[in-house]
Amino acid sequence: MIKAVFPGSFDPIHNGHIDIAKRASRLVDELVIAVYDKPLKNFLFSPEERIDMVKKVFLNDNKITVTGYSGITVHFCQQIGAQVMIRGLRVFSDFEYEFRMALANHRIEPEVEVMALITSEEHTFLSSSTVREISSLGGNVSTMVPEHVKIALDAKFNTPGNDQRVIPSHSIRD
Ligand code: ADP
Repeated sequence: MIKAVFPGSFDPIHNGHIDIAKRASRLVDELVIAVYDKPLKNFLFSPEERIDMVKKVFLNDNKITVTGYSGITVHFCQQIGAQVMIRGLRVFSDFEYEFRMALANHRIEPEVEVMALITSEEHTFLSSSTVREISSLGGNVSTMVPEHVKIALDAKFNTPGNDQRVIPSHSIRD
């Protein structure tokens, strides 16, 4: 029985993440989407909001569960008995980062293997920060995120009185 973890910030979840999760879930017996709360990151959505948005996407998928976590990802994988960590790759800069992370993680926990899936062509440009930026400027993100995520973004950015003009930005690869 192969159990895998797909970790990320999911701030917010978008169609690129969903594609990777669905494709990965076909390769394993159980996929846990793990939403992390990195203390050093400035998130737009709270951990609860991010977890809820991911849960809504996979409500009817009996192979996929969603949970929050903090700390070292490979330790979390070990704790829940997952042998595999899933990552998605878009561009070469992702590869360099993921390559270094995979080696570091392997040093910490050699039992957990990293499996990287290449993005589907139509999602190559998609990232949470792109979605946040377009939405913050009043652009339409309906082809990039599920409807409930678009509603949550509109509530953050386009509600009078809710002044979220300074959007938390992460790293350039996020
Ligand atoms: P992190 O906070 O670790 O950067 P993200 O929430 O941005 O995590 O993404 C989680 C995972 O999803 C990462 O492996 C990332 O490379 C992958 N990912 C993000 N966007 C896409 C996309 N458009 N296509 C494929 N994989 C993606």
